[in-house]
Amino acid sequence: MELLKQKIIEQGVVVSDQVLLLDAILNEQVDPELTMEMGKAFAAIFKEEGITRVVTVESSGIAVAFATAYELGVPMVFARRKKTLLADPDSYVERVPSFTKGIVTDLLLSRKFLKADDRVLFIDDIIANGDAAKGLIKIIERSGASLSGVGIVVEKCFQQGAKTLREQGIRVESLAKIASLEGGTVHFAE
Ligand code: 5GP
Repeated sequence: MELLKQKIIEQGVVVSDQVLLLDAILNEQVDPELTMEMGKAFAAIFKEEGITRVVTVESSGIAVAFATAYELGVPMVFARRKKTLLADPDSYVERVPSFTKGIVTDLLLSRKFLKADDRVLFIDDIIANGDAAKGLIKIIERSGASLSGVGIVVEKCFQQGAKTLREQGIRVESLAKIASLEGGTVHFAE
């Protein structure tokens, strides 16, 4: 998506060979025009899939998941990230490592908002090792719902998350693919 690539070049900050700071458009400040365009793009990609719910993880996935759900005319549900001490009978819980925080957190998703007859589109901001996605996919499986696809704003191709999901037969579509961040510069994959 050209508008996204342009904003990444203008406003993204390469922190290291592994990490790209996107706080100006995704993680702290939200660019509404870009976000609505991304929602339209994901809705167009997945429009034939009969999606009934869009699922994401708080907090950075929420804006783009909302825009996508709005375009598809379906509800958006988000998993919360917490450190849980007690099992929560009302929620599905999956423990995952957090790439940016360097700690383990629990993803909690309310059982009320994910049903066995749902066709789910999982949307997230960035995929690195894929731990957040894998945790959420386990939750979707446990609910009995079917996963129709995964939409990612920024795929870091030099980390294994998206590749591993595709190898499992999951449809993963990214709006921008980054081949490397070497030399302090964003190199797009295509
Ligand atoms: P994963 O679980 O795929 O390893 O990491 C995904 C999560 O970590 C994303 O939801 C994203 O918020 C965060 N993350 C991973 N890599 C980056 C990065 O390079 N920059 C930023 N800003 N967040 C990242």
